[in-house]
Amino acid sequence: MGALDVLERWERAGFLDDRVSRREFLKFCGRMAVLLGLSETMIPRIAEAVENTIKARRPSVIWLEFQDCAGNTESFTRANSPSVGQAVLEAISLDYHETLMAAAGFQAEQAKEEALKENSGKVIVVVEGSIPAKDNGVYCTIGGKTALQILQEIEPHALAFVAVGTCAAFGGLPKANPNPTGAVSVEDVIKQKPVINVPGCPANPDVLMGILVHYLVFGRLPDLDNQKRPLFAYGKRIHDTCERRPHFDAGQFVLSFDDYGARQGYCLYKVGCKGPETYNICAAWRWNLGASWPVKAGHPCLGCSERDFWDRFTPFYSRIPLMSGFGVEKRADDVGKVAVGLTGIGIVAHAIYTGLVRKAERKAEELAEPSEPDSQES
Ligand code: SF4
Repeated sequence: MGALDVLERWERAGFLDDRVSRREFLKFCGRMAVLLGLSETMIPRIAEAVENTIKARRPSVIWLEFQDCAGNTESFTRANSPSVGQAVLEAISLDYHETLMAAAGFQAEQAKEEALKENSGKVIVVVEGSIPAKDNGVYCTIGGKTALQILQEIEPHALAFVAVGTCAAFGGLPKANPNPTGAVSVEDVIKQKPVINVPGCPANPDVLMGILVHYLVFGRLPDLDNQKRPLFAYGKRIHDTCERRPHFDAGQFVLSFDDYGARQGYCLYKVGCKGPETYNICAAWRWNLGASWPVKAGHPCLGCSERDFWDRFTPFYSRIPLMSGFGVEKRADDVGKVAVGLTGIGIVAHAIYTGLVRKAERKAEELAEPSEPDSQES
């Protein structure tokens, strides 16, 4: 079955309405293919997988919020293609989400219990926020249960846990010294089921969407690194994909936020950029349809997606202390004198992604274009 058939059936079923055009949806599938490192020939398969998921039993997703600011929920609901994001959300059964659901109190808790009972063993549990473990977890209770109890009760029913945002993935701000609530991460509590970490403050919404689409297309989670982060998004350092990298290599640094170097877009390393120690897709994929990201806007990377970044990387506006094994960055005062093979990599990283996305979008537009009657007969 081709993507067109899929989309026609979607339209007949009222799934694609005025919020999501055929073209918009296929372009979204194209962007997801690029994000996941797949060929553009996968675009129809991605569209089909989402459609099949709607036809069949939609996977049950329970989204829990503990010690958090709801920043990841905010980020996800403002994804690059919010209307398409909404459509993908409709491909799952979001059975519980404190910020988004209409139900409250007893009704809401009952909905969660029913979803767990009906889908036991198959529930995807998204967790936002850290879990306070001190004093039996009394610092975060919902419906009379501690966050710790809620997670432990849900674990037997879960297929996998997605720890979204740095607080859930690594403990984040609540875990920062002196950690008054004894905050821990999801993987500190969940021992029997797979945990996938999607750190960031907030996490990039497209990455979360990519994990969901990967699961719908392949029926499994994407490959992870040794910190349980999806490799397609966390496989490279920000420093190696940053457009300011040639200035680092040339020894051109911003020394204060209003100096000549700042106006010229020089490297932010000496005003505290943590890009050399941070693995994330921000520089290459960017935010808001590739429009920008903090370093492009003139602010150093704070390393928000790294473990214990509040303790390790503060004060934020001071340069990273020199440390052993820190590679070329150890020579930040000498760069420009040494030949660095990576020069230019940063500047092209986003361009490569942009080029691939444009190509995938053109392919999507071809797929979305209705065929001419006589061009079919030959
Ligand atoms: S130190 Fe920061 S601003 Fe400079 S090249 Fe690396 S990531 Fe970019």
